[in-house]
Amino acid sequence: MRVLIADDDPLSLILLEKSLDHWGYEIVSCKNGNDAWGILEKEDAPNLIILDWVMPGMEGIDICRRLRSRNSPNYMYVILLTGKSERKDIIKGLESGADDYIVKPFHPEELKYRLQIGKRVIELEQRIMKLASTDYLTGLLNRRAFMERVEAEVNRSRRQGQNMGVIIMDIDHFKYVNDQYGHQAGDEVLQNVAVSLTRCCRSYDYVGRYGGEEFIVCLPGADQEISVRIAERMRMAIKGDETVLADARRIKITASFGVSTLDVNQEESLDSLINRADRLLYQAKNEGRNRVVAVE
Ligand code: GH3
Ligand code: MG
Ligand code: MG
Repeated sequence: MRVLIADDDPLSLILLEKSLDHWGYEIVSCKNGNDAWGILEKEDAPNLIILDWVMPGMEGIDICRRLRSRNSPNYMYVILLTGKSERKDIIKGLESGADDYIVKPFHPEELKYRLQIGKRVIELEQRIMKLASTDYLTGLLNRRAFMERVEAEVNRSRRQGQNMGVIIMDIDHFKYVNDQYGHQAGDEVLQNVAVSLTRCCRSYDYVGRYGGEEFIVCLPGADQEISVRIAERMRMAIKGDETVLADARRIKITASFGVSTLDVNQEESLDSLINRADRLLYQAKNEGRNRVVAVE
């Protein structure tokens, strides 16, 4: 785990770096508050932070206040490490938003275990975030998490003048599978479909569960030709796949696909891109199912 250490006292900084290195942390260090804030403003900023209070530029408690007033996607666990030891200082430090407060000179073992508290809090958040973004049945991204990622992807594609493809697919006559084999078997089919779709992707594509038996795929950098090729590969994989039930019965399915691509030269919104893929999917259904449609 990465830790940011900000301390203007060179000796104290070296001591901290040595200790943290010994405990297996990856260290990002700086000698004043402004540099610390610069690091914390970056997208890949460490989540675990040790701040000295008195430093040139921004002070530790200023950084704490700013951190708490901004809307950061991940929790930042802050330990104030300072020579200020009076009760009123401790109160002021905690009031500024610090999670913990340690008076210098620090006792190495104490710091070690207090850092572990921070590490546990951050790992807990990561676990909860993972659960909140994962579809329970298939392990794919759920709809909300997928939409968050694809939104960021669209913005990046626009900035970099890159294409991007979206595939929406829906299993054909899936209600029949449930009716004929039971809901449990239907669930197994959905799990297999998730595996097949993921296998057909490139390493930087990602798949989400869009609804019950509907899936959505984002293909960064893909133009229409590539997107259609990948969708076609998915269609063939699903058509060729079999779900074998515990009683040896075999289920074969097909699926229909709608494919739309982002044209960097046009101002198309994500909503419109997805709606188009959806319309194309329904066109595929109407034209007889088990097919890929990319043109209206
Ligand atoms: P179409 O070819 O037009 O898409 O027909 P369909 O039967 O696939 O579509 P329909 O929307 O009529 O039925 C979808 C079915 O998917 C109904 C629903 O019970 C089932 N389903 C949705 N989510 C789940 C799930 O998590 N597990 C199982 N087993 N079935 C699900
Ligand atoms: Mg269906
Ligand atoms: Mg459906």
